[in-house]
Amino acid sequence: MEKKNIDWANLGFGYLKTDYRYVSNFKDGAWDEGGLTTDDMVTINECAGVLQYAQTVFEGMKAYTTEDGRIVTFRPDLNAERMENSAKRLEMPVFPQDRFIEAVVETIKANAAYVPPFGSGATLYVRPYMFGSNPVIGVKPADEYQFRVFTTPVGPYFKGGIKPLTIRVSDFDRAAPHGTGHIKAGLNYAMSLHAIVDAHNQGFDENMYLDAQTRTKVEETGGANFLFVTKDGKVVTPKSNSILPSITRRSLIYVAKEYLGLEAEEREIYFDEVKDFAECGLCGTAAVISPVGKIVDHGKEICFPSGMTEMGPITKKLYDTLTGIQMGRIEAPEGWLKVIE
Ligand SMILES: *Cc1c(COP(=O)(O)O)cnc(C)c1O
Repeated sequence: MEKKNIDWANLGFGYLKTDYRYVSNFKDGAWDEGGLTTDDMVTINECAGVLQYAQTVFEGMKAYTTEDGRIVTFRPDLNAERMENSAKRLEMPVFPQDRFIEAVVETIKANAAYVPPFGSGATLYVRPYMFGSNPVIGVKPADEYQFRVFTTPVGPYFKGGIKPLTIRVSDFDRAAPHGTGHIKAGLNYAMSLHAIVDAHNQGFDENMYLDAQTRTKVEETGGANFLFVTKDGKVVTPKSNSILPSITRRSLIYVAKEYLGLEAEEREIYFDEVKDFAECGLCGTAAVISPVGKIVDHGKEICFPSGMTEMGPITKKLYDTLTGIQMGRIEAPEGWLKVIE
């Protein structure tokens, strides 16, 4: 299949229209058959539930070309499961998990010409999402919904080399206890925009959010989970009911234990402990791991020994092993790679 003429290595992280997207509508209590369309526009009523009360959830995943030329995506079953949990929390109907995976596969296959070639560092970002589509003015869940999947090619995350991030401890909270921090919903992002714009204005790359109740424990950033390495080489990651369960983070913990023979633990992490860690990274689909070099807490700096020019040694091993599994260089655990074609 002929690839599109795109300068893969110089793509940024932005939207570029591809040929096909998947659409299914929920009406009268049931999802329709659904299918691909070339129409990239959504037409909904001015009073649609999503526009008035933000009833929308989403997922984010990647399709890419492995070393041996297959197009694959990574653990889509976990995205399907997570979207089910997100939908239920916002009183939305569940798009069945098997249909979610079929829709993702179909959309990637239809846009195979946009899946970047192996070695380019670029990927095809896949965005499944769902929203309340009929008019809602009294506060209640919508009766009609639309589920869609679109794709957009995105460039290499570490363009121009790896640069460890500088992040700040945020004075804003991301998620309340017993709130919606654990689901992938647009509403969690809308309220983080002011905090991230402010962080950027102050010269920081990201916000570290603490738990809203006690402001003593590490939660996550606006869109990635934390992973730390202790001085004796143990991998630790925060445990909390208000953190989004990152598939990358869960995969890295498995890799740490089963591939690298490291101790790895999910537990509550107090901010006071952070100064004693050897390495810090942010994990999510986009970057796999972005190293953090420095955390600033109201003028007090925590500088990790791994410094501001490279990943820490254990972070690097985790990164190389997981990306090796994703790219087909290292044997993947059963079910981790879904082959599209
Ligand atoms: C999507 C997301 C992540 C990363 O999850 P992955 O499944 O690893 O991509 C982390 N935190 C938040 C708030 C997210 O929305």
